[in-house]
Amino acid sequence: MEKLQNKILQEGIALSDSVLKVDRFLNHQIDPQLMQEIGKEFANRFEQEGITKIVTLESSGIAPAVMAGLMLNVPVIFARKKKSLTLTDGLITSKVYSYTKQETNEISVSNKFLEKAEKVLIIDDFLANGQAALALTDIVEKAEATVAGIGIVIEKAFQDGGEILKKKGYRVESLARIQSLADGKIEFVKEKEQ
Ligand code: 5GP
Repeated sequence: MEKLQNKILQEGIALSDSVLKVDRFLNHQIDPQLMQEIGKEFANRFEQEGITKIVTLESSGIAPAVMAGLMLNVPVIFARKKKSLTLTDGLITSKVYSYTKQETNEISVSNKFLEKAEKVLIIDDFLANGQAALALTDIVEKAEATVAGIGIVIEKAFQDGGEILKKKGYRVESLARIQSLADGKIEFVKEKEQ
């Protein structure tokens, strides 16, 4: 997605060879127009899949997921990273190991919002080692619903998350695929390779 690539080049910062900072439009301040374009792009890519619900992870997945939900006309659920006082019964949970934070967190969704017949599109802001996306697929499958696809805003294609998810048979659509962040330079996977 050219608009997204241009935004990443203009406003993204390669913090190291493996971490990209995009807090000017996605992870802290949010660009609503860009999110709307992202939502449209996800909707175009998944419109044939009969999606009935979107599942994402708080907090940075929410903006792109809501825009995709608006375009596909389906509700959006965000998995919580912390236990809520009002959300205690009927929780479906899964563990996520974060390589960047070196810690394991439990994420949860209420079973009343995920039903068996549901066809779920999973959306997240980043794909790195695939642990967050895998935990979301685990939650959907524990609810006996179907993962219809995984939509990612920015995939770091030099990490193995994309391969892991595709090997498991999931359809993964990433709107920007980064080849390298070496030497502070952001390079995308060439169009024909994508
Ligand atoms: P994974 O579980 O695929 O290893 O990592 C995905 C999660 O880690 C995303 O939900 C995102 O919050 C975070 N993450 C991983 N790599 C990056 C990165 O380079 N930049 C930012 N901003 N977040 C990242």
